[in-house]
Amino acid sequence: MTHEVFNQAPPLVDYDITEDSALLEGITREGAAWAAGDLHRLGKLGGTAEAQRWADEANRYEPRLVTHDQYGHRVDEVEFHPSWHRLMDVAVGAGLAGAPWADDRSGAHVARAAGLFVWSQVEAGHSCPISMTYAVVPALRAAPALAEAYEPLLTSRVYDPGLRTPLAKRGLLAAMGMTEKQGGSDVRANTTAATPAGDGTYRLRGHKWFTSAPMSDLFLVLAQGPAGLSCYLVPRVLPDGTRNVFRIQRLKDKLGNRSNASSEPEFDGTVGWLVGDEGEGVRTIIEMVAMTRLDCVVGSAAGMRAALSQAIHHARHRHAFGGPLADKPAMRAVLADLAVESEAATALAMRLAGAVDRGEEAFRRLAVAAGKYWVCKRQPAVVGEALECLGGNGYVEDSGLPRLYRDAPLNSIWEGSGNVQALDALRAVRREPDSLDAFRAEVARAAGADRRLDDAAADLDRNLAERNDPEARARWLVERMALVLQGSLLVRYAPAPVADAFCATRLAGHWGHAFGTLPRGLDSEAIVIRAATRF
Ligand SMILES: Cc1cc2nc3c(=O)[nH]c(=O)nc-3n(C[C@H](O)[C@H](O)[C@H](O)COP(=O)(O)OP(=O)(O)OC[C@H]3O[C@@H](n4cnc5c(N)ncnc54)[C@H](O)[C@@H]3O)c2cc1C
Repeated sequence: MTHEVFNQAPPLVDYDITEDSALLEGITREGAAWAAGDLHRLGKLGGTAEAQRWADEANRYEPRLVTHDQYGHRVDEVEFHPSWHRLMDVAVGAGLAGAPWADDRSGAHVARAAGLFVWSQVEAGHSCPISMTYAVVPALRAAPALAEAYEPLLTSRVYDPGLRTPLAKRGLLAAMGMTEKQGGSDVRANTTAATPAGDGTYRLRGHKWFTSAPMSDLFLVLAQGPAGLSCYLVPRVLPDGTRNVFRIQRLKDKLGNRSNASSEPEFDGTVGWLVGDEGEGVRTIIEMVAMTRLDCVVGSAAGMRAALSQAIHHARHRHAFGGPLADKPAMRAVLADLAVESEAATALAMRLAGAVDRGEEAFRRLAVAAGKYWVCKRQPAVVGEALECLGGNGYVEDSGLPRLYRDAPLNSIWEGSGNVQALDALRAVRREPDSLDAFRAEVARAAGADRRLDDAAADLDRNLAERNDPEARARWLVERMALVLQGSLLVRYAPAPVADAFCATRLAGHWGHAFGTLPRGLDSEAIVIRAATRF
């Protein structure tokens, strides 16, 4: 032996992910304190070495496309490592898929969002089909007969994988196909055609360039019907047990999200059932997209929290220049700055989930759009900085940070890429004034509590009133909207050091262009202690 190994941080294992003050206070505030016991169980499972192994294996042994069986018949199946199935089983069993739609308890959507926040810290990729299954339910209600048949299975807590007749299964997964080669954001460019078959069903012909989770049972698919772009429910297996045509050409070779399969399917005589009115495809599927956008906020908040936990854990155990890294003022400033960002994202995610429970439609419309833009944009920056806190170890796969880093940009791309999302928020401001009223009313609840917040809110109002060239300023305006909203939540609910740091930096501008550039006079130590009390 050439040397003794010392001063390496122990693995962050056997801890409870749910022991997170910002999260626990959030669920209490938003009416889901009753779920704390289940969330702690989920958090403890997520902190085990076993769950961490599932996450690692689900990404290391990637899904494999099987186009044909041994006799040459097309099967278009995707094989997953058993660890993927374990992650899915826990997620569906914990009610993170469609369950809250069948749960009358007040706070059910908050409880589920909190569960997703906790469990997707273990592994983000599998939250894609979980999220789409959650999100499909309100959209499917536009076709009451289909909803009546399938909703009980989409809201089930049983994970029942495999391609079989949907109604013969104990639980279903759903996904969506919108993006085509010639256009993803601009879905009006879709060329997939849907022709009436004369028996009330349609036959689809065309392709999709991205369709994630192709092993799902049901898909909402956009296609050009006789009256324009319409939404169709496409099952992988037809009610008579035969396979619907769903030819998977390829799986994407992606930057991250590698545990999850994202496919390019082709439709040719594929059976679809109309959902919503003909020609109203976007209006119909937007009900699903609105919910997946909420989950993008939750997922990005989770990705940031997961990275922050690793950074604080490492900095507390690693010594350099005579003491723990976490005690070095420059490192403490970085950790505090990251913790503020993480808490702001967590508070907003829980507030948005609460808006679902309380049916605050107008508020949700604008706040989810702005929140999706901003929280998802912050994730790569936060994870990159957290990774650096681990030094060279953070750049090495064993630390888990590279996976978090590869996954980080995704939420900002799908379900409305940055510009599209910012423009969507501005569209809500312009065309749905009640959403702006609801947004202002929410911010006004914090009025008078912090002058910097009041000034930022007034400045935002002045800028929103200006009509010249709003598209070019979309990102700036929507960023400010999200910051003002986050600031209002932190001023009302977070401990003073966190709210003070947020207002000084994000609202009053006493901040640099990298994390760790907090101005003098803030209580960085209290901020880090709050974020780190649990491990
Ligand atoms: C891993 C992964 C999984 C996916 N899974 C699915 C899935 O399951 N189902 C599905 O339907 N899609 C899926 N997508 C596709 C995704 O939703 C699209 O990639 C996304 O909507 C952007 O569309 P696009 O790629 O065609 O880019 P484009 O629409 O060409 O956009 C390119 C860039 O231009 C910007 N832009 C677009 N319009 C404007 C404008 N008017 N003004 C200014 N800027 C603009 C966008 O913000 C973006 O940055 C997935 C994507 C990825 C990466």
